[in-house]
Amino acid sequence: MNKQHHQGERKFIQSVRTRAGRAGGPLRVGIGDDAAVLRPKGKSEIVVTTDFSLENTHFRRDWHPAKAAGHRCLARGLSDLAAMGARPMGVFLSLALPVGTMDKAPGRKWVDNFLEGVLELAKASGVKLGGGDTATAPGKEILADIVLLGSVPRGKALLRSGAKVGDGIYVTGTLGAAAVELEVLSDDPKKFTRAKVTDKDGHPHLFPKPRLNVGRALIRRAGTSKINSAIDLSDGLSTDLAHLCAESGVAAIIDAKLIPLGGTLLHALHGGEDYELLFTGKKVPKQIAGVKVTRIGKIQKAKKNQPPVVIRMPDGSETPLLARGWEHQI
Ligand SMILES: [Mg+2]
Repeated sequence: MNKQHHQGERKFIQSVRTRAGRAGGPLRVGIGDDAAVLRPKGKSEIVVTTDFSLENTHFRRDWHPAKAAGHRCLARGLSDLAAMGARPMGVFLSLALPVGTMDKAPGRKWVDNFLEGVLELAKASGVKLGGGDTATAPGKEILADIVLLGSVPRGKALLRSGAKVGDGIYVTGTLGAAAVELEVLSDDPKKFTRAKVTDKDGHPHLFPKPRLNVGRALIRRAGTSKINSAIDLSDGLSTDLAHLCAESGVAAIIDAKLIPLGGTLLHALHGGEDYELLFTGKKVPKQIAGVKVTRIGKIQKAKKNQPPVVIRMPDGSETPLLARGWEHQI
């Protein structure tokens, strides 16, 4: 971490080192040296993902409890690792803070709690904070960038590009609940900053739970049950399934009646931020790593001038499912 810091920031950096704890596991050298050292297991590959969390784009200080903002920031990256079947090895967090943030209690407290949200989820996910940076933000908004490294047995990473014609399409958990909670939040923005909420209370928008154990189990059982492709549901079923189809060069049909709903059908299709996994394959059990798995459709051949994703509605009609944001209709 660089040296041009005000006293508040300097103290913060010292406290980060203490709170991050000692290096261990795949993180051989953590905070304190010029760089971190990671040790992957013998025959493994390194998986890397980075995510910006920008104030007023990804979180709002007046809407999101600081802990939830930190949790969400890390959850996005962990969910990407889960989708690849990777085991997280190290987290790296860079923060740009507006001038004076660490000099006064409300700003300092917010950053402390944000970090707490990151560290609690990191601990629960078996990964350590291995380093990062702080700087003064150019404007009035907090900017956070998270880098996550993970490992996966060589050649085993689950890819978006592996779906095969005839594969079943499966999702974990339920879809749409995060979008429902976001609506509740936008109707009453102070609701959750007023009340003390924690990740134990099952808030799907504030404290999403990345499916790391499912991702790793998918890799382990790939030999027998044939898991061919995977993606995490960060942008919404309609968008993410379209991404998977595009990368695999296939089309998909899903059945509205089969989708495990955590809200309305529209929430489930377009809501996003559920951080469940979607994967395709054959002979898939109804539960993986203790998480419910539901078959919602199948992969079919891509045809010219045909929509890549079709949805069979409850009345039996079939209609193209466009990869659209939440505010649009199906
Ligand atoms: Mg993703």
